[in-house]
Amino acid sequence: MSRRGPLVVLALLLIVLAVASAVVVPWSPLPGADLQPDAERDFTAAQIAREVAFHDALRPTSYASLVLGLVVASALGLTRLGARLVQAVARPLGGGWVWQVVLGTLAVTVVVRLVPLPLRARSETVLREYGLSTQTWGSWSLDVVRGVLVDAGLSALALVALVGIARVARRTWWAWGAGATAALVVAGSFAYPLVVEPVFNDFRSLPPGPLRTEVLDLAERDGVPVDDVLVADASRRTTSLNAYVSGFGSSRRVVLYDTLVEQATPEEVALIVAHELGHADEDDVLVGTLLGALGVAAAVVALAVLLSWAPVRRRRGADGMHDARVVPLVLALVAVGTVLVGPASNLVSRRIEARADVHSLDLTRDPQVFADSQKRLALSNLSDLEPHPLAYALFATHPTTTQRLAMVREWERLRDDR
Ligand SMILES: [Zn+2]
Repeated sequence: MSRRGPLVVLALLLIVLAVASAVVVPWSPLPGADLQPDAERDFTAAQIAREVAFHDALRPTSYASLVLGLVVASALGLTRLGARLVQAVARPLGGGWVWQVVLGTLAVTVVVRLVPLPLRARSETVLREYGLSTQTWGSWSLDVVRGVLVDAGLSALALVALVGIARVARRTWWAWGAGATAALVVAGSFAYPLVVEPVFNDFRSLPPGPLRTEVLDLAERDGVPVDDVLVADASRRTTSLNAYVSGFGSSRRVVLYDTLVEQATPEEVALIVAHELGHADEDDVLVGTLLGALGVAAAVVALAVLLSWAPVRRRRGADGMHDARVVPLVLALVAVGTVLVGPASNLVSRRIEARADVHSLDLTRDPQVFADSQKRLALSNLSDLEPHPLAYALFATHPTTTQRLAMVREWERLRDDR
């Protein structure tokens, strides 16, 4: 296979991705703001010490489990071990390529998740020590199983498509595959709230009452059509308070954690809903999905470039993308690629979150409730107030509480112009 075609298309996709990000990402969510984050201004030394102790206990296992997962994925993907595993698991079922892809994906996912499992169990005990997890080991294990099955299922779907396409079009699979996986990302994001979320939580409509009326009024005032507000039974796992928007078009929904509905004041719920309405108003899920689809298309083309690269070809134990034994290598590249791309996608996510914060302030015009609820959420969720730059780059999808508090001060200073 010639490498020039994929290289040219990859360069074009990366340029489109860069231009699209430059245009659609709100790089300055609060124009004119001069943020001066300072945790000590809003939190006592004891509060900061408790949060720091919690993260000091949690971080080593988070990093170790991330690294171990990558090491195991690479060990399977870059040696012939993975290729042998794929053949071995499919043999009892006749060893056809579809079984090799599906069972091979499942087997690799299980191994990659099982090896770091003791570390994840250690993280869970830390969460319990600090009163953040309400799970039993039974429900925790069930979540692990569900996570592996959902993850392996989604990966297998994409890989069956890619390998299937490569079997029909050996030379041009990467072009068709890029289009097909991008379409899968869009379809998956649309279907996620309908198919995947119910695997992990039960949802019910927010019952009629003052809170529901207030939320729907707020949405109407904001000009965002919301038919229903859902409550998730998050308290079966966690004590933390949260809300989110998922899906787009007819699958779009605003979901509140039951912990939030039970523990927060109506003003706090209104503020958090106003933040979620900000996401809905700007179609952030759809925009994120489209950027993700472009990114996945670029990843498939990059995969074609890598597969044609001699050192990879020698190691992989598979003939090419049309050979199901390529599955462990692809999964290893996806695992490494996800970590590498994480800092960039988290950066974009933090800007989008900051815009939703500004939206919630513009809508409620209640900076005091914003500041108070940010502090309360930080204390009850034990948020990392001043994360290490590495942790911030790798894990922070939202601005820190300290940044959000600095932002609300700037919003107050600038409010007369807004
Ligand atoms: Zn948000």
